[in-house]
Amino acid sequence: MRTKHSRKLDTEESAHIARVKALPCACCKTTTKPRDAHHTAQGNHFTTIPLCHEDCHQGTHGVHGDQALLKVRKLTENDMLNWTNRQLEFGTENPSHSKSRQSRASTPKSDIPLLPKIVARRF
Ligand SMILES: [Zn+2]
Ligand SMILES: [Zn+2]
Repeated sequence: MRTKHSRKLDTEESAHIARVKALPCACCKTTTKPRDAHHTAQGNHFTTIPLCHEDCHQGTHGVHGDQALLKVRKLTENDMLNWTNRQLEFGTENPSHSKSRQSRASTPKSDIPLLPKIVARRF
């Protein structure tokens, strides 16, 4: 049963969803079939997993079906969520085709201010 959640996503949520969908399917790792963002928790857009629509998501053997596609790979939703977050965070296992459009939130080089060494020993 699905509840309609028609609340509009805020900017950060839709940005996150877009990033999730740009990843390969978390189950079969396809990059050629359209992916959906599968919500592991109702209404929580930050715990979503990219799953190819036809098979791993809405297919008979997908996550909403008998989950056979997950089982053969020994995957649970939690595993896939874990994988998803790892991809988003560190981009390991990037598909070669997605030379991602510089969505690299520029990491400030020296975040840590150079602290002058305070040699204040109070002995
Ligand atoms: Zn898939
Ligand atoms: Zn779903």
